Amino acid sequence: MTLRRRFPRLALLLALLCLPPALRAQLHPLAVPGGVARLELGPDTAARPQLWLGDQPVTVLARQGRWQALVGIPLDTPAGTLILRQGPRPDQGSPLALRVEPRQYPVQNLRLKNKGQVELSPENEARVAREHEEIARLKRHWRDTPYVDTDFVRPAAGRLSGRFGVRRFFNGQPRAPHSGLDIAAARGTPVRTVSGGQVLAVADYFFNGHSVFIDHGQGLISLYCHLDGIDVHPGQWLEKGAPIGTVGSTGRSTGPHLHWTMVLNGTNVDPALFLHQSAGTSLDTRP
Ligand SMILES: [Zn+2]
Repeated sequence: MTLRRRFPRLALLLALLCLPPALRAQLHPLAVPGGVARLELGPDTAARPQLWLGDQPVTVLARQGRWQALVGIPLDTPAGTLILRQGPRPDQGSPLALRVEPRQYPVQNLRLKNKGQVELSPENEARVAREHEEIARLKRHWRDTPYVDTDFVRPAAGRLSGRFGVRRFFNGQPRAPHSGLDIAAARGTPVRTVSGGQVLAVADYFFNGHSVFIDHGQGLISLYCHLDGIDVHPGQWLEKGAPIGTVGSTGRSTGPHLHWTMVLNGTNVDPALFLHQSAGTSLDTRP
């Protein structure tokens, strides 16, 4: 009798142990520049509240009987108080204060042999400016959906080779901080979507190379860059973990790796926060 009573628990334990680590990924909120803050907005018996950071809508999800906002905090936000607005429009509604803690990001110096990728020709300057606009527009994309799955799978197997937020210098010249997380892997390594969603765009950019944007709903967007091959097309719906292409070194890249960016309310946030539980030793980027 004891065996039979014990068996369901044992079966559950075995099932949990057999889950690949990637399936146990969980968002680990951190209210710092480049982080993701979780904000309580009251019981979910009322209609879903609308929240804004500037003119960008903010993700609001039902969680354990309450509405919770997931706020992407821009990397250039000073530590202190960040004001959001709750209401039907961004320029109205009641202010909601969010405390932002300081976070220091490291500095990295990179040498690129191809000077053409550091000092751009006028044609390439123009191309980069166009692409910059397009990328910013895609990152602001909003698709309303009641549910967003933030328990991610790893987009690729491999070694962490670059953290989010690192202040970079190419051949001594300052550049924008690192907008994502780099995973070094052999060319051809499969790249998978971290969560279910719809392919928002497929592009070939000067810096990012072959790139795929995936819209997971409510402003949560993932971006995969420097891909060798791409196996998806815009508009296509994908299940979590579905293959989207392969690791490559297209665009401005020093070797085969996946550059993975996560976007919330139009702002880049640290992808490592979504992999906290699944990270293992090679992807654990907690400071
Ligand atoms: Zn990168």
